[in-house]
Amino acid sequence: LSETTQSSGWSIAIHGGAGVISRSALKPDQEAAYRQALAAALETGAAVLRNDGSALNAVEAAVRALEDDPLFNAGRGSVFTAEGRIEMDAAIMDGATLKAGAVAGLTRSAHPISVARAVMDKTEHVMLSGFGAEIFAEINDLESVEPETLFTENRWDALERTLKKRHLPIPPRPHAFAAAKSELVHDEGKHGTVGAVARDRAGNLAAATSTGGVTGKRFGRVGDSPIIGAGAYAANAACAVSATGDGEYFIRLGVARDIAALFEYRGLDVQAAADLVIKEKLTALGGSGGVICVAPNGQVAWSFNSEGMYRASAAEWREPVVSIYGDEA
Ligand code: ASP
Repeated sequence: LSETTQSSGWSIAIHGGAGVISRSALKPDQEAAYRQALAAALETGAAVLRNDGSALNAVEAAVRALEDDPLFNAGRGSVFTAEGRIEMDAAIMDGATLKAGAVAGLTRSAHPISVARAVMDKTEHVMLSGFGAEIFAEINDLESVEPETLFTENRWDALERTLKKRHLPIPPRPHAFAAAKSELVHDEGKHGTVGAVARDRAGNLAAATSTGGVTGKRFGRVGDSPIIGAGAYAANAACAVSATGDGEYFIRLGVARDIAALFEYRGLDVQAAADLVIKEKLTALGGSGGVICVAPNGQVAWSFNSEGMYRASAAEWREPVVSIYGDEA
């Protein structure tokens, strides 16, 4: 993705996960469904920025749209733990103030990103986990729902496949799923995290990431997505980053902050910084995944070492771009 920028305008990028996403793996109607969903979430975030809204509000709005969509592994459509439950993680960061909020292990939130936002806005903490996070969400009226409303047949199938492959016992199937199986979900059983980065007209940056984690994970496992500096980071003096991929590797490399540091201290542009960390460091360590980034001048970049990544970007000065495969812009 190469682009010229206009440093006074807004820009935004979103992702819906990286992984084994090749032209042969997606049927035409699946591909169309993903492109449509990405375009719609992108527009949700872009509309905020177009109306002089903040980057923070834009990334939250875009991620909420992706959390609502069962095509993606966040909110409704989150993947299952080995015990057959869901545990969602999310983080949001404000580049202007370096304030951040994160949640881990939510089991009943329709929009984990908004719980993370409330942790940032309403507490003196950065991260809440598990039961404490859930009580916090309930007290603040943040759309706590019955966990079953977030379950989907596709993710249950993926769990069964994963556990069978690992010769692990299959937990009893929870009853009363809200959604029937969708032929449109492309489920390789792994990735699908969602995220957004944005720059608003005032020049502020923000990042947000939300996920159900990885299929068949141990209960209590926390990935990179809610870890500030690993799965999400934003600083006006550097750049904003949202990640997706093998969480353990992203944590070990401190991927999001590492990209920001290369930008800040070594003067790499945001594309070069992202490529160095993803294509060289992450690849060398054996991890797979990708990132989206936005720089203070509005330049958007993405980088991934997997076959594909669901992604899209828009800016005040150009037409939106929606891409899936590795050979696209
Ligand atoms: N990074 C996420 C996690 O490890 C998963 C993903 O992005 O696919 O929780």
